[in-house]
Amino acid sequence: GVNPQEPWVSGLNPPQREAVETTEGPVLMLAGAGTGKTAALTARLAHLVATRRAWPSEILCVTFTNRAAREMRERVGRMIGPAVEGMPWLGTFHAVAAKMLRRHAELVGLQSNYTIVDTDDQLRLLKQLIQAENLDEKRWPARQLAGLIDRWKNRGLNPADLDAVENEAYANGKGAHFYSLYQNRLKTLNACDFGDLLLHMLNIFRREKDVLESYRQRFKYIMVDEYQDTNSVQYLWLRLLAQPRHNICVVGDDDQSIYSWRGAEVANILRFEKDFPGAKVIRLEQNYRSTPEILGAASGLIDANSERLGKTLWTEAGSGEKVRVIGVWDGPEEARRVGEEAESLMRRGIRLSRAAILVRAQFQTREFEDRFIQIGLPYKIIGGFRFYERAESRDALAYLRVIAQPADDLAFERIYNTPKRGLGQKALEKLHVYARSQQIPLAMAALDICDTDELPARARNTLLALMRDFARWREAAQTLSPAELVRTVLDESGYSAMLQAEKTAEAAGRLENLSELARAMEEYETLGAFLEHVSLVMENETADAQDTITIMTMHAAKGLEFDHVFLPGWEEGVFPSQRAIDEGGLRSLEEERRLAYVAITRARKECTILHAANRRIYGQWSSAIPSRFVNELPEAMTSVEATMTGGASLWRAQWSEHADPFAHVANAQPARTMTRGPGWKRAAAGEYDPTPKHIPEARRSAASFAAKPRTDIAIGDRVFHEKFGYGEVLAQEGNKLEIAFESGSSKRVIDSFIRPA
Ligand code: ATP
Ligand code: MG
Repeated sequence: GVNPQEPWVSGLNPPQREAVETTEGPVLMLAGAGTGKTAALTARLAHLVATRRAWPSEILCVTFTNRAAREMRERVGRMIGPAVEGMPWLGTFHAVAAKMLRRHAELVGLQSNYTIVDTDDQLRLLKQLIQAENLDEKRWPARQLAGLIDRWKNRGLNPADLDAVENEAYANGKGAHFYSLYQNRLKTLNACDFGDLLLHMLNIFRREKDVLESYRQRFKYIMVDEYQDTNSVQYLWLRLLAQPRHNICVVGDDDQSIYSWRGAEVANILRFEKDFPGAKVIRLEQNYRSTPEILGAASGLIDANSERLGKTLWTEAGSGEKVRVIGVWDGPEEARRVGEEAESLMRRGIRLSRAAILVRAQFQTREFEDRFIQIGLPYKIIGGFRFYERAESRDALAYLRVIAQPADDLAFERIYNTPKRGLGQKALEKLHVYARSQQIPLAMAALDICDTDELPARARNTLLALMRDFARWREAAQTLSPAELVRTVLDESGYSAMLQAEKTAEAAGRLENLSELARAMEEYETLGAFLEHVSLVMENETADAQDTITIMTMHAAKGLEFDHVFLPGWEEGVFPSQRAIDEGGLRSLEEERRLAYVAITRARKECTILHAANRRIYGQWSSAIPSRFVNELPEAMTSVEATMTGGASLWRAQWSEHADPFAHVANAQPARTMTRGPGWKRAAAGEYDPTPKHIPEARRSAASFAAKPRTDIAIGDRVFHEKFGYGEVLAQEGNKLEIAFESGSSKRVIDSFIRPA
């Protein structure tokens, strides 16, 4: 038995103690949010070490995030002191696998100093392979392949394991072919991707009996938090490693399974008892985190799911505020409102770090960021870049910067070949050399160099087309509103099309962010004013030490708790997401509802849900209707407050009237139009002429600006050109030379690429 005086068990309730005490044999702790699953698991870890049942290095303990691992390490450290040191096998599946793979890399053809490629590298490799195989990348995007490969790896499938259906999923039956090309390429680079960490180790466990045996010997105890979100390959791992001892303790909550889109299988938790016969199942029912109102609201909501095991939850916590549901007019008002609430917390002496704003999608953070910067409320964004720092925001901004300021070389370089237009590194180097020699910006060098034969015809034409685009956009910037301009640019540059072609959830998220960017620009009269705003926002780094409110996604908030939680954007199409609604299946909607359950149960004292009546999504104002989840909250646990006409009570009424409440969303019309610059009207009236303006003029002016002709070269001189070889100067025009090359052709070149022969 457990000595209740031991510090790590004092304070635990009987079922938690049972989980700590049952050190041998399989244990499944299945319990709702905030019932102390993680707390019990932490105590169990401390107990195993303190009672010398195992050395710290003999316990495999898996958490869902690195942060959770760090927290657990600290807590165990507080319970048992320095004995905790070591504990090499406390971490995420990926961290643990990476450590193992360093030791056994040679078994899968890698060296122990292998590198782990990130998603950018991964995509670049796949693109190269697709090109090398002469496959149309537009038709079969690298991102799609990357998504498939991830999925296969999450399921523990090697190229040879793919069945016909899987194989068909890419390029008409070339799935396995490309998957294996990719794996080979990684091997020659002595690299692997994230999915490989687990898959390689699984392969090793399966093939190398002695390796598997050594880990089975080593891990006297295995523990896993957030077990409901393990995927197949992780499950296979555990099943192999837990033999023959079966000393495996997993904890989870089927109601909090929110990663099926990443391959997680809630079925893993449901079949635990079958895989490990005789498992002790421990249920925790007392919630220590939240007030009865918060708990009641969350429990009532999750009741609407059909696919669940069902649990009882109760709390002894004193009654608190009801869950507030606030209806606001639109997104900006929502941000204003949350800002006011945060300020009122501060007035009540509550630290901002006790509060969090949990959003469904990254794009939602932008309005809060803008507002908080305006009112000087310190905030931090966890698990994601701040809005304007995301790759797609930066790309779009780079286009705008080049339009506003052609001399912005950094911006130019960023988008010069994004989306891919076949402008390679060589051409860029050439531009750099030339721009440096003339001390002119890259964009200007580009114009100038296109007037010559310095670049291969294809690159020159592409570059010229890009410069024409910029000239046209610059012209359009005079008349279009900034928001219209950015939409035009994203459209005409092929940037949006690039993301659309990817057909991944990630790309869809990026597109949403771009719509949101355009939306943000609605508020600015000129491009200059907007860009200034952005640079101010980007500079406004809030120091980490400061007391800040946290903004993060609901997904990232799993396992965490905050005294005050704000949940904005509870509208159909935002939450549940349009994607989930469109898929229509029970599965995706139930997963959204589980996410709502996770979100509400993060709150300890107060939970505030907001929904706006008008929301701009995909660049269109639409009248939004409150999320079905709002309606599913038990009325006794909620207080409804409306600051705009109608308000939530009206919405409730509408809900019961509509046979198909979502028809409303599908047919939604823009509720109002924003004010735009005068150019927009002209464009709408057909007065704006989008045909390319005359690039030759721009070119001439650039050339006259740039031309600093060399004085050491004259007509008739014999010269050497790095690409074309020897020739004789026929004509000189500014810094351009007409040269009859000895190879037989006559070319127009730039004099800085010439030396006297
Ligand atoms: P989630 O499902 O959200 O991950 P959980 O079940 O892991 O939640 P914990 O995070 O372990 O729950 O605990 C929730 C809160 O309850 C924490 O603040 C924790 O310190 C507290 N707690 C856990 N067990 C007890 C207990 N026996 N007595 C008092 N407080 C407890
Ligand atoms: Mg937990």
